[in-house]
Amino acid sequence: MSRKLQAPRGTLDVQPGDARRRLRLQRIAAEVLGRAGYEPFETPVFEDTELFARGVGESTDIVQKEMFTFEDKAGRSLTLRPEATAAICRAYVEHGMHKLAQPVKLWTWGPFFRHEAPQAGRFRQFTQVDAEALGSDDPSLDAELILLLAELIERAGAGPARLRLASLGTPETRAAYVEELGTYLRAREGELSGEVRERLEQNPLRAFDADHPGTQAVMRDAPRLLDRLAPEDAAHFAEVRALLDQAGLAYELDSTLVRGLDYYTRTVFEFESERLGAQAALGGGGRYDLLVEELGGPSTPGVGWAAGIERILLASPDEPDGDARVFIALAKPGAMTAAFGLARRLRGEGIRVEIEQAGRSLKGQLKQADRIGAHTTLILGDAIDVKDMRSGEQRQVADPDEAVAAVRETLR
Ligand code: AMP
Repeated sequence: MSRKLQAPRGTLDVQPGDARRRLRLQRIAAEVLGRAGYEPFETPVFEDTELFARGVGESTDIVQKEMFTFEDKAGRSLTLRPEATAAICRAYVEHGMHKLAQPVKLWTWGPFFRHEAPQAGRFRQFTQVDAEALGSDDPSLDAELILLLAELIERAGAGPARLRLASLGTPETRAAYVEELGTYLRAREGELSGEVRERLEQNPLRAFDADHPGTQAVMRDAPRLLDRLAPEDAAHFAEVRALLDQAGLAYELDSTLVRGLDYYTRTVFEFESERLGAQAALGGGGRYDLLVEELGGPSTPGVGWAAGIERILLASPDEPDGDARVFIALAKPGAMTAAFGLARRLRGEGIRVEIEQAGRSLKGQLKQADRIGAHTTLILGDAIDVKDMRSGEQRQVADPDEAVAAVRETLR
């Protein structure tokens, strides 16, 4: 017997009900972002591997362990995109968008790929919606983007979400801080867990995430990056916070917020759902004022976020779409011709119409009308019966014009 074929590990088939919810979410995203002047934009699903190595950072987990990398027939190394920002910056430079009026505001939606261990809410192919504003370091852009993601989560029904917020300052501030933290931890090495001690040289920030009670006690008094920001970075962050406060959006300052990408400067943030388990991050992002230059472009500040569609949908209730539906039942041989014409007319009015197309008995057809949640069923026999599926009332009309009028009536 031949082997049963299955979708690759960590991927998912988006089945009809879920696909409908995704489309709805995409419409919400287009509306929320469109109103703030963000334009839809798309980049390829694969890019030169070097873009991510340089953009995301050689030492990150994403680049070290999680990329789907392959060679094309000419031996070039390509990678399925693990995130959106690096590619959008590449496109910004490639198309000379720095010559446009700034900031350039873009959003995109599509599949992303990371070779992670699959679990609930974590896939190897997942979908992100992503918004970016390039060409200005105005703190109102940071606040605007955070508020737009909050609105998207809220309107998707995935709230309440916890917002964690911090500023990373500049790479220099961060390097000096990491050194200070390392010195602090080395002086207390005996109280730390073995794991934290081992990683001390590599990444002392990890110590903030430790479950180990001794380490946690040490971390309570550890120096915080937020207290070490240079005056202009601290002022930028204060302005972001003031705008969020004014908008009434609650957040938690979290000095330990580390995001898995190297390119962030200043503002970083993450939204977490209270309804999800271990993989609770709905979306996050931050400012990346050095990335465009890093990728060979002119010095260009930028800020943006990405949110996971599968996670947002996992965190939101499954609501029926509420669309009006009409079913046309065929009660005599040859009724299809009239049904077909009637369906086209009603569909032309924006009504969702399905016709009997599987040769069922009349009883079976009425069952099918129920199954699809029809509001109205038209039964085409010698006359046309209009059945209101909610009240069960049925009346007869003489011709298609009257049937159309009756449908409009029942849907009112
Ligand atoms: P990141 O840029 O890594 O913060 O990703 C942004 C958002 O994408 C996260 O908050 C998640 O909602 C989603 N996401 C990231 N990785 C995955 C994954 N492997 N599977 C599903 N969603 C993911």
